[in-house]
Order: sequence, then C-alpha cells, then structure tokens
Amino acid sequence: MDLFEYQGKQYFARFGIPTSAGGVADTVDEALAAAEAAGYPVVVKAQVKVGGRGKAGGVKLAANADEVREHAGNILGMDIKGHTVHRVWVEHASDIAKEYYASFTLDRPAKLHLGMLSAEGGVEIEEVAVTNPEAIARLHVNPIEGLDLATATKWVAEANLDPEAREQAAALLVQLYTCYVEGDCDLAEINPLILTTDGEVKALDAKVTLDENASFRHPEWEDYAATDTEDPREKMAKERGLNYIGLEGSVGIIANGAGLAMSTLDVVNQVGGSAANFLDIGGGANADVMAAALEVINADPAVRAIFVNIFGGITRVDEVANGVVAALERVEIRSPIVLRLDGTNAIEGRAILAPHLSERLVAEATMLEAARRVVALAGN
Ligand code: GDP
Ligand code: MN
Repeated sequence: MDLFEYQGKQYFARFGIPTSAGGVADTVDEALAAAEAAGYPVVVKAQVKVGGRGKAGGVKLAANADEVREHAGNILGMDIKGHTVHRVWVEHASDIAKEYYASFTLDRPAKLHLGMLSAEGGVEIEEVAVTNPEAIARLHVNPIEGLDLATATKWVAEANLDPEAREQAAALLVQLYTCYVEGDCDLAEINPLILTTDGEVKALDAKVTLDENASFRHPEWEDYAATDTEDPREKMAKERGLNYIGLEGSVGIIANGAGLAMSTLDVVNQVGGSAANFLDIGGGANADVMAAALEVINADPAVRAIFVNIFGGITRVDEVANGVVAALERVEIRSPIVLRLDGTNAIEGRAILAPHLSERLVAEATMLEAARRVVALAGN
C-alpha cells in the first residue's frame, strides 16, 4: 500500500526523521488555516499517489494568504496523471541549498536490503539513474547486521554529499533504515532530501510503500487503508475483503483464482466485450463470499451482465452453487448472470442450480460459450 506524502512524513516523524511543520487541507479555507499554523512562506503540495507533482504544477510556493488562496484553489481539483487532487499538504517552505536522494528497498536477487544515495537528487533523479548511474552510491545492507552509524558515515562520503551535510545525513539514513525495517516498508524514499541554507538536513518529500503482509502487527495502518483508494467500488470490495480492481467495461466478472479471473477478462475481450472489473474470490467460495462479490458488482452502474466463472479444484463446485443460490436470495441483482461451473463436483453443482435457471440466470458449458452469452446480454 502506497502512502500519500503527508502520511509518509508522519510515518518518518515516528522514527525521528526531520520534516517541515505543516498540515493537510481539503478546502482553500483549511489551506489558509494550515498556512497560518505552519508560518509563511509556505509550499502548497498536491496529495496524489503519483510522482512528478512538481513538474505538473502541483507544488507551489506561497508567500502570503492571497498566494495560498490562489495556489490551493488551482491545485485542489487538479488532475495529475489521471489522479484528481482532493487534498493538499501545506508546510513551512524551506530555503534549499542542495537536493539529494535517499531510499531503501529490497534487492530480491541479492537477498539483501539496498540503500541508494545520491548528491544529485530532485526531480531529475530518473534521468541521473540513466545518464550518470555512478552518481548513485549503492549500499547493500545485510538484514541480520543492520545499518550502523559508522557504515552510514562512510556511505555519505562515498556519495559525495556536501561536508556540512554529512553528519546529519548519516544519522538520518540510520533512522530511514530503521523506519524501513521496523516500519515494514517495501520502499522508503526521500527525494529530495535537502540541505537548507541554514545547514539543516531534512526530508522534503516522502514516498513510502508499506508491506501489507505485515499489517497484522500494525493496527495503526487502518487509517491509511481508509484513504487508500478513491474508487468507491474498490472501497466497498476492500471492506468485504475481496480482491477487486475496477475497470471501465460493462461485464461484471467473478472468478475463483487470479489466473482464471485474468483469463476471463481476456476471453470476454476476445469475443468483443469489455470487463467492468477484476474480481478473484479465491478458494472456498461460500454464500457469504459470493453474496459480497455480487453486491459489489451490483453496485456498479456500468455493469450490464455478470459472468461467474468457477473452476473447482480444491474449491468444490457444489459448494459454490449453494453459495450462488443463497446469495441470490439475499441480494437483488439488477443484471442477468451467466454461470460457467466446471471441475470438482461440477455435476452436483449444476444439479443444485438447475431449478433456479431462468432468462436472468443462465448456465453455459464452456468458458467461451459463457463469454459469448454474457457479452450478448451486456449488449456489446
Ligand atoms: P514531486 O515533484 O512529486 O517529487 O514533489 P516534491 O515534493 O519532490 O517537490 C518537487 C520540487 O519542488 C522539489 O524538488 C523542490 O525543488 C520544490 N520544493 C518543494 N518544497 C519546497 C520548499 O519548501 N522550498 C523550495 N524552495 N522548493 C520546494
Ligand atoms: Mn519528490
């Protein structure tokens, strides 16, 4: 799960990483209040989970209230690479002397953590990585040994950070490593990490990706999950514990297993239709899971027909069939449903469904026939 910049900075702060004082705002008035609290001059920053906000006009300096009004007004509602800005972060502006880059992530082939540090940070870091890769000092960290201050001190020298920044930067890198490990991040990135004209080193931006496999030991991550997605369909699915991704088409899709769900998308496309979603209900598709899946798909006004594609392996088709019957008693479905049930106990499953079949609940023998039928019903 990716965090917004402001959440990343709050996360950093828990590990002692210095950032600037600031506040979030969803309206121009809130932005003014946050600016007063942070102290002028401020910087108004679009909160979207995509890089390159500065270049897109989503990061603006403001010297006074009029400028905050102007910039917050422009940035709120702005579209940045397909992401609508609903919230800004307003922080006290820094006087930048130097922009560096620092990050930790996992180097899977090496089976080690990888730190990257560069004296040439800022908005062009991707270009630096391509044209001048030696400007990035890489440090592998053995997770058993961890990162100590002595190693970090050598590292900042090797990366050619300015001498006056080195001591603070080394300490900050140890904190960033601790945040990355103890905070269960897949990525902890600061770009730019700045040296101010007053000789202070701090994080001006924050890009944090949390490892959701560790969410069981982080009850506090629930706050982040609440702001994780804007798509109301994905929110609803997440609340029901479903593996769902919203798409643009008109055929709702329910399948057991991610591979089968993706194949279902392909076959629907192949016969001229378009999927409204990806939805993998996983194994053990009982009535609760099936009802939750149908509810989510039913709530999507773009859906015109639903394709339930089940291949029983460990999952037994008769259980799924019972799940479908029970779910249909609970949820009133707007769209016709086409079922393809195959695999373990398929015969028993089809027998359970037989008395319930109608124009609105159709069974087909193969995946391809079912796809053709559902696409026809969706009116494609
Ligand atoms: P990104 O473009 O999405 O990576 O957003 P950043 O938070 O990294 O900001 C982009 C750029 O805006 C930075 O590299 C800085 O050059 C500039 N910027 C951001 N905050 C400040 C600030 O407090 N003072 C000054 N002078 N520039 C800032
Ligand atoms: Mn940045």
